[in-house]
Amino acid sequence: MAKHIKCGSLFTGLDTKAEKDQTVVIDKGMVTYAGPSAKAPKASPKDEVIDASKYFVMPGLSDVHTHLAYGNARCEEDIDIYAPVEFRALRGMFMAHRVLLAGYTNICNPGDAARVTLSIRNAINAGLFQGPRITTAGPYLTSRQGLTDWYPTWIGQPETSIGHLIRSRDEGIEEIRYQVKDGVDVIKFAMDGDTALQPNGVSKFSGLMAAFNQDELNYYTTESHRLGKKVITHARGLEATLYSAKAGVDCIFHASYGDDECLDEIVKRKLTICPTLTLLVNNYEFSQPTDGAGKGWSEHSKFEAETAFKFLAKAHKAGVPLLTGTDSGFAITPYGEWHAKELEIYVKYLGMSEGEALRLGTSVTAGFMTDGSRLGALAAGRHADVIIFDGNPLKDISQLMDKKRFKHILLAGEPISVETHDVDYRKVSQFSYDMWSDMYTQDRVKELGNQIRTIAAE
Ligand SMILES: [Zn+2]
Repeated sequence: MAKHIKCGSLFTGLDTKAEKDQTVVIDKGMVTYAGPSAKAPKASPKDEVIDASKYFVMPGLSDVHTHLAYGNARCEEDIDIYAPVEFRALRGMFMAHRVLLAGYTNICNPGDAARVTLSIRNAINAGLFQGPRITTAGPYLTSRQGLTDWYPTWIGQPETSIGHLIRSRDEGIEEIRYQVKDGVDVIKFAMDGDTALQPNGVSKFSGLMAAFNQDELNYYTTESHRLGKKVITHARGLEATLYSAKAGVDCIFHASYGDDECLDEIVKRKLTICPTLTLLVNNYEFSQPTDGAGKGWSEHSKFEAETAFKFLAKAHKAGVPLLTGTDSGFAITPYGEWHAKELEIYVKYLGMSEGEALRLGTSVTAGFMTDGSRLGALAAGRHADVIIFDGNPLKDISQLMDKKRFKHILLAGEPISVETHDVDYRKVSQFSYDMWSDMYTQDRVKELGNQIRTIAAE
């Protein structure tokens, strides 16, 4: 039995426009026809006809930067230490469904502990649970100057960390081969961090030091590619962005402080960038003075975002595919909430049309995933992941953040389960041994005055 969707307008994902009077035909989970209704194959009496003539029909969306194992964490310790990896997998499975409910049928997890997202991916692929299609990395490969080696040397990197510290080339090669054997889709490198700065007065913001040198990254990239895996890097600073571009990694995450030389290398090698601006913008738009990261963090995020907007707008003009990703999984970017904000930011700050942003958020980003050539578009031979949407995101892209507008989400041609229930976030995400948010000196206590809560008020 085939399904015929009569579309009010159809955005295939392959173009920047939508067309009226179109039909999508689905058979056995795949699209067999998408085009003018006048030319569509006739529905047989056994076929199901879905009347979406009042709606905007489009392919499922893609987020290439969603960490399913982070659990909407408030701090890195929450991510690395407090929840056992087994619990993270169960929680991540639940969160994956939340992402799907936001219309995101494809996600890539660029790094987490052990085999958490890999197991979620396998459970979904095996048909045990419903969830988005997942492409995943294993733990980030990092050095002592990179992201994920957060703790002092005398503590070291815990076994349950999202990163794996590699101390020599041999360890790097061994970790790549180990992860490939486990079945990862991509290899993730922490090419810089937040704290290792270049000496001699280089700007605090753009002067992040690369965690690996050029030779090391070339060497690891060659081996990952030889084993048939894509390479992605976390690279905010100029140096890490340039090394990533020269090494020919498949996608550079952030690239906030890239320059013309970086752009030339990226264009020459046909690489992609995942800017992940949502994390930065949410940091300065929403975070509060009581948040642990403090005022400096918001200011830093704003500075970085504004610097990145300029470079990324240039990259977009130069034809670099900007994959859409949000760093969902933190408390500032909870699952299922802000994925489409990245598209809004592309329109608002990178000078894109809604159609361009939506094409990036569908076929272009999906193209990066495993089996990508059959994802992210409504065209014959593609997986039938379909959104029937009440509105027109080509007029107002921010409509995609409104879940009420998603009338139906089909995964492989079947409606997804929309059943949800509330959970107790204290038991889901907040385990850290965090006791006070302030310093209770005599002066501070006086200042707080009647803001101090009393037992009776609890
Ligand atoms: Zn991330």
